[in-house]
Amino acid sequence: MSKEKAPLPPGSNFIRGIIERDLTANKYAEKQWAGSPGNAKHHQTAPVDPAKIRTRFPPEPNGYLHIGHAKSIFLNFGLAQDYHGICHLRFDDTNPEKESQEYVNSITEMVQWLGFNWENASENNLYFASNYFDEMYQAAELLIQNDYAYVDSQTADEMRENRGTLTEPGKDSPFRTRTVEENLTLFREMRDGKHPDGRHILRAKINMASPNFNLRDPAIYRIRRAHHHHTGDKWCIYPMYTFAHPIEDALERITHSLCTLEFEDQRPFYDWLMKKLVETGMLSQPVPKQTEFARLNLTYVVLSKRKLIQLVEEKHVSGWDDPRLPTLAGARRRGYTPAGFKLFTDRIGVSKADSWIEYLIFEDCMREVLNLDAERRIAVLDPIKLVIDNYEDGHSEDCFAPNHPLKEELGKRTVQLSKELWIEREDFMEEPAPKYFRLFPGNMVRLRYGYVVECTGCEKDADGNVTVVHCNYLPDTKSGTDGANSVKVKGNIHWVSAAHAYEAEVRLYDRLFKEAHPGEGDRDFLQDINPNSVQTITVQLESSLQSVNPGDCFQFERHGYFVADRIDSVKGKPVFNRTVTLRDAWQK
Ligand code: ATP
Ligand code: MG
Repeated sequence: MSKEKAPLPPGSNFIRGIIERDLTANKYAEKQWAGSPGNAKHHQTAPVDPAKIRTRFPPEPNGYLHIGHAKSIFLNFGLAQDYHGICHLRFDDTNPEKESQEYVNSITEMVQWLGFNWENASENNLYFASNYFDEMYQAAELLIQNDYAYVDSQTADEMRENRGTLTEPGKDSPFRTRTVEENLTLFREMRDGKHPDGRHILRAKINMASPNFNLRDPAIYRIRRAHHHHTGDKWCIYPMYTFAHPIEDALERITHSLCTLEFEDQRPFYDWLMKKLVETGMLSQPVPKQTEFARLNLTYVVLSKRKLIQLVEEKHVSGWDDPRLPTLAGARRRGYTPAGFKLFTDRIGVSKADSWIEYLIFEDCMREVLNLDAERRIAVLDPIKLVIDNYEDGHSEDCFAPNHPLKEELGKRTVQLSKELWIEREDFMEEPAPKYFRLFPGNMVRLRYGYVVECTGCEKDADGNVTVVHCNYLPDTKSGTDGANSVKVKGNIHWVSAAHAYEAEVRLYDRLFKEAHPGEGDRDFLQDINPNSVQTITVQLESSLQSVNPGDCFQFERHGYFVADRIDSVKGKPVFNRTVTLRDAWQK
C-alpha cells in the first residue's frame, strides 16, 4: 500500500476501502441483473442491478454455524446494508457427502436469528449452489471446447508424483494433449456414468510449471457416485469447490466475494476462470472479485467443524445447542444476543492478519449489551434462611424494585417482604473477615429495597453448619421513605421472601476448555476440556420469574446475566442458564 493513502475512517476496514473505491469508479454502473442468477445471456437484456453491491454468505451445509461464521455473516450482510447492496444466503452444497437438510434448516434459522434476511419485496436471494450444476457443466464443456481443460486419466498416485514440489515444476500429464473432441467425448461419458469413480478427472489446462500449485492444472470435475441431498442421483460427476465457487458468485452477479485467508492462493485461479468464461461468452463483465480476510480465532474455544462434531458425537456436550458450545445454536441458548454479536464483530474489526481474539473481549461485549438490555431480577443462588424476629408473623408488605437502574421508564415491580427470607449463604459470617460489611452478629445491613436490619446471631446443625440467621429490622428505615437514610450502613444484600419465592434450577456455565489454545502442540484438544464447565444448582427466585418466556434475559442482581432456557423446564417453570458473570471471574 502506498504511504499517501488517506487513513480509513473509524469503524472502517480495508474491505470498505475497496468497495468505496469500486463505487467511486462506477465499476458496477452498467451491471445488469435479471432478478435471478444466470449466465451472460440470462442477464443480457435485464435492467441495471438496483443493488449497488452484491455480497454473499456461502456456508457449506455440513455442520452448524459457529461464532466464526457470525463474523462472516455480519461482514457480508452488514456491508450490503451499509452500501445499498444485497447479500445472498447461498448454500455451497456442491459436495454430495456430509451435507444434509438438518444443517440447511439450522443455518437459515441462525442467520435470521442474527437479524438478517435475504428476501425483499421483489427478490428472494436464498440460493443453492447445486441448482447451478447445469451451468457448471456448461462452463466445463466451454473450457474443453476452447482447449482450456482436458480429461486426465492418470492414477491419483501418478498425478501426485507429477505435481512437482515447491522448488520443482510439475510434469505435464501424458493425457494433456488429448484433442478437444476426445476430451468432450470422454467428459460426456463421465457424465453419463460410463466410467467408474476416480478413473478420469477433468483438469483446467493452465501451467504445470506455475510457482502457484493451484495453477498446476487444478482438478475441476470428478466422478463420484454419491446421492446428493438436493439433486438426488441426477449427477455422478461433481465440480470441485474451487471451480464451483467462482461460478456461483458470477451467476449471482456478486461484486465482492469475501472469504477467509486460506483461499488467498486460490485467487489467481478464480481470476483465471472468470477471464476464460468471459472469453467464451458464458459470463460478462464485471465479474466478481475475491477478497480475503482473517478468520476469527477465539481463545478457549474450538471452531473447527471436525472438532465440534467430535464434541457432540462423543457426548462431551449435550448436543449442537449445548450452551457451552461456540455454535450459534449453543450461543443463543446460553443467552448471548444478536446485539452482543454485532458489538463484538464491530469491535474486533476485519483485518488481513490472522490473530487470536481474547474470549474476554467476546464476554465483555455480551455484558455491555446485556447491561443495557436485560431487566433486573432477584435470585438467591445459595440460599440460607434469614428470620426477622421482630417482624409480624404472617404479615407481608410490598417493596419496589426498579426493573432497570438505567431505564427509569421501565418502572418498578413489587417484591414481597415477610418475616422469613432467603439470602445468600456468603452474605453471613459468624466471624467476619477483615473488611466484611455484610451480616455478622451485631452488624447492620440494608435489605435491598427494604429495611435496615441488625444481625442478632444464627442457628447451627450438629456439624456446626449455619442453618438459620437471625436479625431485627429497624421499622423507620424502609427504602423510598423519609427515614431511609437515617441509619448509614455499608452492606446492602439481596433477598427473596421465603413465602413468595419459588425454587428453580439454574445452570452455571463456565468455559468448555481450561486452556487458551485447546489442543496446542501435540496435545489432544479433549485433554483440555474444563471438567467443571457446568454446575447445576437449586436456587430461590423472585416469583415474577415463574412466568417469563424461554429466551428472556435478565440480570440477577449481584450475580450476572441469566436466560430462561429455550428447551428445558422443570414442572412447567423455566430453568435458567448463566450467560456471563457480572465481572470476569478468571481475571482474579
Ligand atoms: P469447512 O472446513 O467445512 O470449509 P468453514 O468453517 O469454512 O468449514 P463454511 O460453511 O465453508 O465453513 O463457511 C461459510 C463461510 O463462513 C465462509 O465464507 C467462511 O469463510 C466463513 N467462516 C468460516 N469460519 C470462519 C471464521 N472462523 N471466521 C470468519 N469467517 C469464517
Ligand atoms: Mg469453507
